[in-house]
Amino acid sequence: MKTTRIYISLLAQFVSLFTLSAAIAADLVIENVTLIDGTGRPPITGATVEIDGDRISRITRGPAQPASDARRIDGTGKFLIPGMIDVHLHLRGGARVTPEGLRDPDTDVEAGRAALHGYLYSGVTSIYDAGNNPDHIFNLRAMERVGTLIAPRIFATGGIVTYPGSHGSFEGSTLVDDWPEAIPLLEDHIARGPDMMKLTLEERGWGARPMIPMLPLDLMQHIIEYANDHGIRTTVHTSSELRARQAIFAGIDTLSHPIIQGPITDDFARLMSVKKIPMATTLTIGENYSRLVEHPEYLDQPLYRAVLEKAYIDEQKTRIRDEYAGRDWTWWMKIMTPIAQENLRKIHAEGGILAIGTDQTIGPAVHRELELIVAAGIPALDAIRIATLNGAVFLGRERDLGSIEEGKLADMVLLDGDPTTDINHAKQINLVIKGGIIIDRDRLDLPVNR
Ligand SMILES: [Zn+2]
Repeated sequence: MKTTRIYISLLAQFVSLFTLSAAIAADLVIENVTLIDGTGRPPITGATVEIDGDRISRITRGPAQPASDARRIDGTGKFLIPGMIDVHLHLRGGARVTPEGLRDPDTDVEAGRAALHGYLYSGVTSIYDAGNNPDHIFNLRAMERVGTLIAPRIFATGGIVTYPGSHGSFEGSTLVDDWPEAIPLLEDHIARGPDMMKLTLEERGWGARPMIPMLPLDLMQHIIEYANDHGIRTTVHTSSELRARQAIFAGIDTLSHPIIQGPITDDFARLMSVKKIPMATTLTIGENYSRLVEHPEYLDQPLYRAVLEKAYIDEQKTRIRDEYAGRDWTWWMKIMTPIAQENLRKIHAEGGILAIGTDQTIGPAVHRELELIVAAGIPALDAIRIATLNGAVFLGRERDLGSIEEGKLADMVLLDGDPTTDINHAKQINLVIKGGIIIDRDRLDLPVNR
């Protein structure tokens, strides 16, 4: 017993010496930068941010005296924001289209990696995949966590939990129709380790979509309680105020979309503020249909050209554009996007928590989402909080992620332009840092580097 204890204490000393020397070697200091810390506080000029290992160790105003072997970055004239977080996307590579036009589950690591590199290049250091082929997304997540894949931090839901025939019931989904019969299915579901559980509460019958069956509310309540009892947060697809309200009172932790079916009541804005239920903004998915038809040249912006394959852009501008042009859904969403924007603005103004989500598959979409948030009338400084700290709150990870504060993981983006004067400056990315390590953007597997 005694020998074991001595052994453990020696081991502990060895480990701490080792971590100490590793930390000094990895030390990084960003000096004289304008710090926009993600909390919504006003920018601090002339700040010094010190990174020890993978964490932010010290933030000071004015010059600091870091270890002499620390790597120093001159932040003069530059702006430091937290790494951005997209809390609603579906990563590529999880499905392929068969010759019959059906979608088959797939686990295309290359496609996933290319998309992930595009997110990092765009300044996104954490993502939440809100529904995918579980084999695909959990494989990529495992690779990122052991360090064999250069990628943003991956949080994932795997398959969606819903009612047979309802929104989101496809290959890989967990379909439940009764309680307690659902328990063994949910046991299998959480055995895969979802970071959040995603449900859907949607009967459609609006826009250009016919009605479908919907998850019963009492069953939903059981599922949420089960997930929470197992330490798992929940999120839900809803599109109307009525269903969002019902989901909140069934105990849901977050909402995956804004209200898109119509204008919200003032009561709902107040409810969202009182309950502090984070809501993903997902304006880009609906707005992108008409944008592609009417302004396909947006794909020629440098950021899109840098991360998207030419063949993908060409297909978007031709086949996909024609497809969108002929859909009623495209024009419905064009009309409803300003209403969703105003709904988000009202919730924000009331004190509710919005978090950037795109419901897309590409990194640059995060920047479009920021543009749409600011165009809704939300101040740019608040939009940065919505893209960073609020995303961490959505995921329940705000102790470690989302802001540039002492003790947090060092995920940050150095910008050449001030994003508070023009949110488009968030695209002027100079450096991306994840966990204290500078991402070599010139070596990411992207068209810009070929
Ligand atoms: Zn989605």
